[in-house]
Amino acid sequence: MTPLTGAGEQRGAEVIDEQSGARAQSPVDGFPEQASPSEQTTIQIPAQHAAADAPKRPPTFEALGTWTLAHGTLLRRVALGVAISVVAVTGYVGLQKLADAPAEPGAPGNTAQPQTSSTPDEAAEGVRRAAAGQPVLQKMADAVLNESRGSFLSTVDPEAKAFDEQARTIYTNLGKLPLATFQLRYVSDDTGALAPDRQAELGGTESWLAQVEVSWQLTGYDTKPARETLPVTFVTRDGTTYTASFSERFVAGQRRPIWALGSIDVAEGDDSLVISLDSQKDADDYAVVADRAVDSVSRVWGKNWKQKAVVYLPAKQSEMEYVLGAQPNTYTQIAAVTMAELDSPQVGAPVRIVANPKLFEELGKQGRRIVLTHETTHVASTATASPVPLWLAEGFADYVAFTAVSVQDESAAKELFKAVRAGKVPRTLPPPEAFAASSADLPQAYESAWLACRLISEREGQSKLVKFYRAVHASKSPTGLADAFRTVLGTTEAEFTADWQKYLKRLAGV
Ligand SMILES: [Zn+2]
Repeated sequence: MTPLTGAGEQRGAEVIDEQSGARAQSPVDGFPEQASPSEQTTIQIPAQHAAADAPKRPPTFEALGTWTLAHGTLLRRVALGVAISVVAVTGYVGLQKLADAPAEPGAPGNTAQPQTSSTPDEAAEGVRRAAAGQPVLQKMADAVLNESRGSFLSTVDPEAKAFDEQARTIYTNLGKLPLATFQLRYVSDDTGALAPDRQAELGGTESWLAQVEVSWQLTGYDTKPARETLPVTFVTRDGTTYTASFSERFVAGQRRPIWALGSIDVAEGDDSLVISLDSQKDADDYAVVADRAVDSVSRVWGKNWKQKAVVYLPAKQSEMEYVLGAQPNTYTQIAAVTMAELDSPQVGAPVRIVANPKLFEELGKQGRRIVLTHETTHVASTATASPVPLWLAEGFADYVAFTAVSVQDESAAKELFKAVRAGKVPRTLPPPEAFAASSADLPQAYESAWLACRLISEREGQSKLVKFYRAVHASKSPTGLADAFRTVLGTTEAEFTADWQKYLKRLAGV
């Protein structure tokens, strides 16, 4: 799926990740230290394809409580120059889950495990601390909405110098965002989360860690607020309770809001909002590409969606992983992902496109446009909360991307054609596991899914392809796919598969 043929930008590069053991850490104060887990990445031999990592989506809504991210293992072989993407559905991370999860290795003060109150006295203490903490949070949230910097900073512990600096950046960041709402809600106590030496360091009469739900909604982009859980350190001194950190004891897999990771630049296009942590990048340039992607998607999908895209541009891969709540190095070879910024996947959740800075940059202009169009298709079709099979979600996203940016079949389906010419015609439409990062046939999975969608479009017309997608997406029935094959396309999956196999052979010249 190299889209760069003929443009003088053919990359043909393969990235081999050395899987460095570096782990990202969260210092007690200040921004999380940005480890560089992929420093050892080397560019090697030619390859054609891009990898994606597609987690299995929860089969039912009820399963959400226990469903967590399954981003898979690192893929050793990956190519640049193709739409590398994934539908990343953020997993539900309940507070109990946080308490059960291992603390980030190396994070300060992680020797003590969070506990929940178990006796009436402890419960009463928890209520008392919540009553002390919530007003502080309320003051912060009000200050953000009222644009009162002084009030916001007055909630910060005067002794917490590093956090004071971080708080100033956070306040400035939030001021750059078109916020419709911003709320902080005290959720629970993490009794015992702060080790005695940390408590001694904080001083005051009392200090503790609480989990706080932060929610914010972007005017013009979000129909529901984004939600994340932040660990907030409180300290009481001289009778006043302050905040002393927003990043203490982050556990692996806990997502972090982009505005809490460092200073951001915000660019607003006609239909897109780009939030960048990379001061070297011109966020406006990316807004132009995102605007084009929105337009390209609307041309195929129609205008019956919000027609807006929010793009996050981290400066480092580790920041991307923080935003996604992914383990370090998970996304070493993924150029961009689409994620719902909510604890549970659902229609209407705010969806973000998150770029992996290094790979995204290396894709070149045309490649970035393809990737953004692919991801924006996922946004339009709410793929983060959809029952459509992955072959249809990914194939359709590539169909839209390659409709916007013309690509030669021979290069776009290189791996698949090679297999078909060797007599290995896929026996079925690619199953979900074929899209896992560990899948050996990942390029073929994307290529064959794309050509399945293209076949539908060529034979029935593009509008039928969209209708088919929408029918499967809207279906609540386990037979939704079979029903759509019958009612929209007048065929069966088996018949279609046979036609598609013939189509692949014909395209490959077999
Ligand atoms: Zn995708």
